[in-house]
Amino acid sequence: MQAKLYPWHADIWQNWQQLLGQERLHHAILLSAPKGSGKLELAAMLAKTILCKNGITEPCGMCHSCQLFDADTHPDFHWLKPEAEGKQLGVDAVRAGNQYAWETSQLGGQRVILIQNADRMGEAAANALLKTLEEPPANCHFILLSRSMDTMLPTVVSRCNKWKPRLPEESVVKRWVESDLFETVPLQVLRINRGAPLAAKDFIEHGGVGKHEALIEAFMQFVTKRQGLFNLTELVVKAEQEGLQWLSFLLLDVLKVQQGSQEAIVHCDSMDAVNQLAKTLPQSVVMNQLMALNRMKAELARHTGLNSELLISRWLTDFTPQA
Ligand SMILES: [Zn+2]
Repeated sequence: MQAKLYPWHADIWQNWQQLLGQERLHHAILLSAPKGSGKLELAAMLAKTILCKNGITEPCGMCHSCQLFDADTHPDFHWLKPEAEGKQLGVDAVRAGNQYAWETSQLGGQRVILIQNADRMGEAAANALLKTLEEPPANCHFILLSRSMDTMLPTVVSRCNKWKPRLPEESVVKRWVESDLFETVPLQVLRINRGAPLAAKDFIEHGGVGKHEALIEAFMQFVTKRQGLFNLTELVVKAEQEGLQWLSFLLLDVLKVQQGSQEAIVHCDSMDAVNQLAKTLPQSVVMNQLMALNRMKAELARHTGLNSELLISRWLTDFTPQA
C-alpha cells in the first residue's frame, strides 16, 4: 500500500502530526471522504508513521518497519476490506481483525488495523467491531475509512475520532489533474467525478471521457429520434452503476435548465445536448424518470441477481417526447 500525502490533505496531516507528537492520537480514527480523493494513501501515511521505529510525526522510510510497510508485508499492519468492489465487509473479516487487535505486536511496537469501506459493514460486523472499540487493546490503532458517515452504525461513529477532509476548490482540482496528466481537462469531467481529483484522473486514464460521450450521444439519439434503443441499453449496461449515475446527472441538469437555473450544472461542456433535451422532454417525464432511475440504481446495487438489461431498457422506453 502506497503511503502518500496529496496537497489537499496538508491541513489534516498537520493536525495528526501534532497529535502524534503529543501522543494524543485517538485509538480509532474515522476518515470520511468521497471516492477518488486519496483517503487510502493518507491512511497509509498515518499507519506507516505509527509503525515507524524512528519517526514520530512522519515515517523515516529507512527502518525495518518502513521497509516492511512498503513491501506490503508488515506483520503488525492489518488491512480489512470487502472481498470485492461493491460487496459488504463481512463479520468474519471483522472478527479476524478483532483477534489481531488482541495479539501482541510482532515487531514489539504498535499495531494498526485499517478498515476500508467501513460504511459497508453489515450490522453483525459493525457490532463485532463496536465491542473492540469500546474496550480498546493497548498499542493498537484503528483507522476506519468511509465514503459517508451517514450509512454507518451511529454507535460505531460515536466511538471514533472523526475527520472529514474537504475537497479542494474546482479550479485547484482542475490544475492538479491537468498538471498530472499534461493535458487540458474539461470542467464537466471533474463534476461527473464529484470534484474528486484521483477519480477524475482515473476516469480520463481509463477511457471514461469517450465512454461518457458515447452514452450521452446515444441517449440523445434515442430521446430525440427514437433510434438505437438496443445500442443505448448496451452502453448503459456496460457502464454499470457509473452509466446510470451519468444519466442521473444529465436528467438533473435538464430539470435545472427547465426550471431556469444554471447553477452547478454537471454537464457544463455539453450544454447543446442539455438544452435540446430540456426542449424535447416534458418536465413531468424528466422528474418521474429521475425518480425511477434512482429507485432502479438502488435496487441494482442491492440485488446482484437482477436482469439489469431488462430493467434499463424498460426504463428507457418510458421516455415519451413532447407531441
Ligand atoms: Zn521508519
